[in-house]
Amino acid sequence: MPYRFTFDLSRIPRFFFIELAAAACEKDMHRKFGKTVQDIIKKFRIQEATGLNLSEAVTLLEDLIDVQARNLVERERFIQTKKRALLLPHCSRKFMDNRCKAFFDPQIPSYICAHCSPDCRVGKAEVLAKKKGYDVYILPGGSCIPKILNANHYQGIIGVACGEEIKTGREILKAKGISSQTVPLIKNGCADTAFNIENLSKIL
Ligand code: SF4
Ligand code: SF4
Repeated sequence: MPYRFTFDLSRIPRFFFIELAAAACEKDMHRKFGKTVQDIIKKFRIQEATGLNLSEAVTLLEDLIDVQARNLVERERFIQTKKRALLLPHCSRKFMDNRCKAFFDPQIPSYICAHCSPDCRVGKAEVLAKKKGYDVYILPGGSCIPKILNANHYQGIIGVACGEEIKTGREILKAKGISSQTVPLIKNGCADTAFNIENLSKIL
């Protein structure tokens, strides 16, 4: 799912994501899936809101629905897992420069959040996940995942990332038989990106 376009769905009404979830539930049995996607694009004026052309908007929505559908299929198995970790993308930090006080430890490898900004999504997600017993990693890229998995024996992983990284991570986890859930970015671009913290909270 590599994108040649950037997008920002962070200001789209919440109901849009509820419709995506409904479409994910029906994905495999719905003969008019393509029409459903186009209807959602029209209804929420996604092209006007994002500047994407129709084909890009269709690609993006199909991928978002695909992520939700895969989460649903895997959910029961994931719930059974005991030892879990959350992988967060470094690009969703509030700052990408030295205003972010996180320290990168190459031995793990992960950034260690210093909680410098109460409104940083990554900082908030870290607190939320740790309260629920997850180990948390803030990664500069998917290439860090094998080292983390080899050093730990996780049964379940939640990954927050863009479509491209979700795809890479999913292959790595599948090869190791690890159950996963994913949270896609709703704003991409490798800096100042965004994910839905409420969506993450539900999956946690
Ligand atoms: S809260 Fe953590 S991740 Fe966010 S900017 Fe501060 S140190 Fe960096
Ligand atoms: S947008 Fe994707 S590829 Fe870029 S830094 Fe974030 S997770 Fe990595």
